[in-house]
Amino acid sequence: MLFFQRYKIAKFGPMKNIYLDNASTTALRPEVITEMTKVLTENFGNPSSSHAFGRSSKNLIELSRKSIAKQLNCNAKEIIFTSCGTEANNFIILSCIRDLKVNRIITSKIEHHAVLHTIEVFQKQFDIQVDYVNILEDGTVDYNDLEELLNDDKKTLVSLMHVNNEIGTVLNLEKVVSLCKNNNAYFHTDTVQSIGKTKIDLTELPIDFLVASAHKFHGPKGIGFAFIRKQIVLQPLLLGGEQEKGLRAGTESVHNIVGMAKALEISFEKLEQEKIKVSKLKRYLIEQLNLNFTEISFAGNPEDTFYNVINVILPFDENKTSMLLFQLDMNGIAVSRGSACQSGSVKPSHVLKAFLPKELLQKPNIRVSFSHNNTKDDIDYLIDILKKI
Ligand code: PLP
Repeated sequence: MLFFQRYKIAKFGPMKNIYLDNASTTALRPEVITEMTKVLTENFGNPSSSHAFGRSSKNLIELSRKSIAKQLNCNAKEIIFTSCGTEANNFIILSCIRDLKVNRIITSKIEHHAVLHTIEVFQKQFDIQVDYVNILEDGTVDYNDLEELLNDDKKTLVSLMHVNNEIGTVLNLEKVVSLCKNNNAYFHTDTVQSIGKTKIDLTELPIDFLVASAHKFHGPKGIGFAFIRKQIVLQPLLLGGEQEKGLRAGTESVHNIVGMAKALEISFEKLEQEKIKVSKLKRYLIEQLNLNFTEISFAGNPEDTFYNVINVILPFDENKTSMLLFQLDMNGIAVSRGSACQSGSVKPSHVLKAFLPKELLQKPNIRVSFSHNNTKDDIDYLIDILKKI
């Protein structure tokens, strides 16, 4: 896209700006900006006000809720707007412990920190049992271990993410739903990376809770939602007014809510064509990596991981790890690495540490995550720069 092709002078010659970090966040769709601008301009009424200005804002919120519910085939009453995916995860996990009296959580070491850290804190605060399901060497959940862990009388919540944000491994939702139902456990899934990128039918699939974040599917930042199945009664997350059925007080962010609904609507409208395009890009990257480098490895099996994410382990010397992202950045390429730099040393991420063998953990890795805005040229440029590092 032209938008991404500002030329600068870089270490290895003229460079472009290439965004390959769509699992971190995505660019807004132009139609979403138009819709949000309209709301910001015309619908400033407080949705709780009873006059026409307020009523029109309230109407937009409820239309957005219905539109989101329609995409997921659930009831609009089951959608609660939050400020982000993290908040929705916190709300659900806290509510399960506090309101549903869950005293045991089964989760995994490869969850996003929005789930992992939340569970760690509540484990201490509420003195609950936490068990971590085994992760296999391809980064997937060991379903046999999950089944064994579920064989227990404690009131249990299973919290497992759908698509892993670092490696793209995909949870078999049908399987986990059925295991949870057979063992009377609640099932929460962090679907931040998959909502808007794959169909989820909540009437067919009786998941109890899921969460979404608009900025991952070309919507605005600062808005997300929790799906809470109808029969499940929870106490408020935020106390105050009656917004969001009294579950989350505070004046609603009308433009963000409308923007999120619009983004989801377009994502589903274009899902098949964009999925084909993005899958081809991922395939092309795998081919080019194999063609240009010997001993390329991947975290997770790239044939099975989600179509927009790939985690590449590069056959570079360990000492190149700390400079890799910096050098890519200096050349206009935005990717992430599942590692955190601390005081000059590079530590592998908690996700990779959970299943990769030691020799692969020592090698530099990058996470490349695509959107429909990317092209083959972006990949050629990435390969070109990687070859020069
Ligand atoms: N869960 C997953 C899997 C994510 O990838 C992210 C964001 O990176 C979050 C939760 C947090 O979402 P938010 O940025 O909306 O708080």
